[in-house]
Amino acid sequence: MRFFLRRKDVIFRIFFVLALLTAVLWVSAHTLRPTETVPETAEESGEISPEEEEPEPVPAGPMVAGEVTVDPMIARRVEEIRAAGEIPRIAAPVEDLPMRAEENPKSKLLMNIPTGTLLAEIPAEEEPADPARIRVREPESGREGYITASYAPVIDYPAVDPSLLPVVRTDTALYTWEELCEDVDLLCAMYPDLLSTRDLRPSTDGRRIPMMVFGNPDAPVKVFVQAAIHGREYMTAQLVMKMTEYYAAYFATGSYRGIPYRELFEQTEWTIIPMSNPDGVSISQFGEEGARTSATRLILRRAFAADRSKTIRDQDTYLKLWKANARGVDLNNNFDAGWETIQEKDHPSQANYPGPRPVSEPESQNLVDVELSQDYAASVSYHSMGNLIYYDADGKKSEDAMRSLVIAEIISGISGYSIEMERSADLKLGGFTDWLQLRCHRAGVTVEVGTNPCPLEIREFLPIWFRNRECWAALAASLISE
Ligand SMILES: [Zn+2]
Repeated sequence: MRFFLRRKDVIFRIFFVLALLTAVLWVSAHTLRPTETVPETAEESGEISPEEEEPEPVPAGPMVAGEVTVDPMIARRVEEIRAAGEIPRIAAPVEDLPMRAEENPKSKLLMNIPTGTLLAEIPAEEEPADPARIRVREPESGREGYITASYAPVIDYPAVDPSLLPVVRTDTALYTWEELCEDVDLLCAMYPDLLSTRDLRPSTDGRRIPMMVFGNPDAPVKVFVQAAIHGREYMTAQLVMKMTEYYAAYFATGSYRGIPYRELFEQTEWTIIPMSNPDGVSISQFGEEGARTSATRLILRRAFAADRSKTIRDQDTYLKLWKANARGVDLNNNFDAGWETIQEKDHPSQANYPGPRPVSEPESQNLVDVELSQDYAASVSYHSMGNLIYYDADGKKSEDAMRSLVIAEIISGISGYSIEMERSADLKLGGFTDWLQLRCHRAGVTVEVGTNPCPLEIREFLPIWFRNRECWAALAASLISE
C-alpha cells in the first residue's frame, strides 16, 4: 500500500512538472523575439518556430528534465562516416593522441587529437605492415594521418537520438545525489513495466540510497551493478543512470548485434545501485557543505588535520578528493575479505581507512545484503579511473577469477579497456569484488572508467559513454547463451 501511494505520488509529480513545463514553454514561445537564439535542443524537443502566427502549446513529449544528453552532432557524424564506407572511431587516449604522417610511429607529428574526438578510419586497400596502426581522418579539420588503433575504439553501434534520453543530465559533471534520486523516481514512473525502485538502508549521514531493478525480475539470469562506492568517482553514477535510461528507452527498438534488447532484457534481471556512497559523493562535490550534521563536519576537519602534510595543505582540495563515506571509512576496504591485512590507516580519512571492523558501515552492509539476496551470475562495480578492468581478487587465478575473466573479456571487447592480467602483490583487498569472489565464490569485475585523475571533468563523459554504452547488452547476450 505504501508503495502504491508513493508511486502515485511520483506520477502526480511528473504530471505537475509536465504541466509547469508546458506552461513555461508556451509563455516563452509567446515572448521570445524572433532574433533571440533558441538552444539547439529546443528544435528537437518540439519548440515552435518564430514565424508561426498562433503557436500551439508544446506537446507533452519528449520530456525535458535535463539538458543535451549525448552530443547530437557526434551522433549525426557517426552516421555520415558510416555512409561514406569508413569506420567511426572515438579518440580515447590517456593523453592527447598523436596523429603522424606515416605508419611509422616516429614519423612527423601532424596533430595531437584530444580525448573524445570523433575519427573516421579509412579502410586500408592492402594489408598494412603494422595492423596496430591505422589511417584516419579527423573530420573537423579534414587532416589525415596514422594513429595507434587501440587508443581509438570503434563505435560499433547505431547513434542514439538524444531527445529520447532527456532525464539524466550529462552537461555537467556535478551530477548530485538529489538529482539522482529524482531521476530514479522519474525513470521508474516513465518505464513502470521495466524499472522499479526500492530504498536500501540510508547512508551514515541520513541520505536515501535507492536501488533499481531493470528487466525481468523473474528471469533466471541476474546481474548486479553498483557504482560510486568511492565519493570522488561520481561520474560512474551518472554513467550507470544514463545506461539505465538508455536501455529502458531503447528496450523496444534497440538491438545488440542483431539480438533485440527486448530479448536480452526479458531474459535477464539487473539490480542496480547507482550511487552506493551518496555522502562521499556529496562531500567530494561540495566539501563541508556536503556534510549534513555538525558531527560529520567535525569528522571531515579531524581527518584533514590528521592527514595534513607538505602535499596535503588545503582542506577544500582534500575534501574534493574524498573517497570515503561520511565517517571517513573507505567502503571499498570495508568488506570481509583480507580486511585484517589492510593497515595503511588507523583513523578516519579521505581514503584507505578500512573502518573499525568488516562491514561496519551501512553502505557496505547494503551491498552485502543485496549480493546475498539472490544468486547473481555476474557483478560489475564501476570505479574511476584508468580505463582498465580488474577480474582477479587475489591474483591466484582461481575458478571464480576465471569466470570473472569471461565477464572482463566481454566488457573489454566493447569498451577497449585493458584487463589487468597480473594483480600486483601489494594491491589491497577488502573490496566489494574481492569479497564476492573470495567469500561468495561468485563472478565479478571492477571496471575503472576515465582517463584523468578524479573527479573527472565532463569532457570525459562522452568517451566513457561511447566505450560503455553497449556493455550491458553484450553481457546479457553472453549470459543467456550460456
Ligand atoms: Zn574507486
